[in-house]
Amino acid sequence: MSETIFSKIIRGEIPCHKVYEDDHVLAFLDIGPLSRGHTLVIPKEPAATLDALSDESAAALGRVLPRLCRAVMKATGASAYNVLQNNGALAHQAVFHVHFHIIPKPDERQGLGVGWPTRPIDHGDAAALAAQLRDALG
Ligand code: AMP
Repeated sequence: MSETIFSKIIRGEIPCHKVYEDDHVLAFLDIGPLSRGHTLVIPKEPAATLDALSDESAAALGRVLPRLCRAVMKATGASAYNVLQNNGALAHQAVFHVHFHIIPKPDERQGLGVGWPTRPIDHGDAAALAAQLRDALG
């Protein structure tokens, strides 16, 4: 597991604007917010990407994420928000320690801009792919 700036924040070697902490999870404000209240939620386990995370840390994150979303909404007054989780440099991950972004969307201009270039599904390929995925899940 690689050392990142988030490991240093967990150990208290680098300051952060802490929002929440328990045995498995830390949440703090993003240093480069897309909107006011942009919060990062991270496991203390130093996994680089979500697929590498233990069930225990995943459960701890899942337990607290909705509560943190409610707190961000209450504190900022935003009723819309995005939860974003990037894995891999190609997918815009800059810090290789799992993190969820909670990003308030107070208006059209602020918050996360989302590109969503859809195309129609190929049902033949989809049937084969779904079977492959079920197989991969074991
Ligand atoms: P990502 O592109 O998903 O890896 O996002 C990494 C996020 O970490 C960015 O939004 C950064 O602004 C944020 N970030 C990097 N360093 C710090 C720091 N020291 N404190 C708070 N947020 C940070």
